[in-house]
Amino acid sequence: MKQKFKALQGIYEAFARETAPFRREAACTKGCAFCCTDAGRIDCTTLEGLAIRDHIQRMPRARQTSVKKALKQDMKRREAGRPSPCPFLMKTRACMIYDIRPFACRRIYSLHRCSKEQPPLISRQVMALAAGTIKALQHLDDNGYSGHLSYILHMLDAPRFLATYRAGKFKPEEVMAFGKSHGIVINRMMRDAVPSPPPDNAP
Ligand code: SF4
Repeated sequence: MKQKFKALQGIYEAFARETAPFRREAACTKGCAFCCTDAGRIDCTTLEGLAIRDHIQRMPRARQTSVKKALKQDMKRREAGRPSPCPFLMKTRACMIYDIRPFACRRIYSLHRCSKEQPPLISRQVMALAAGTIKALQHLDDNGYSGHLSYILHMLDAPRFLATYRAGKFKPEEVMAFGKSHGIVINRMMRDAVPSPPPDNAP
């Protein structure tokens, strides 16, 4: 796992390096948090989820309790089809897990100020690089899955699934029912799929 976490960091860093020239034009400012409240699903792989889970377990007890409560609320709201802000967004509108935030949060930025009417605007080149990075993440997490953050953390909370995953084994039957009902995808099936082209309005 240690080596996989190191490789995960390498993938994040390569993406940050390659996309830095495009981000110079970004309209994002500290405290905006539009992407953490209004931009839909926050996907991660099981490997990214495990890094976040380990981080939660190192938090003080009181914070762990409040984070777990927020994750459960997020799950319930999303299962009911209601909008839900990220459980890791603090009252200060800062990210509680910024250093280990998943790739879904690292790839997003916007060339204009966002609003409900104006979702984030990302350049085509960054979208293409992000599609390649997602494949690399799914390749790295070959015995894992991808899906919304709180769903992946919920899966990792199941001792049997966690033991299977940590052992590097692949038993999709263990998560079949939950996966189907919660839009979880199997990484090894997705990594070879052809990515969809960027939308026509991308710059
Ligand atoms: S993990 Fe952090 S950066 Fe990502 S959506 Fe949540 S609060 Fe925002």
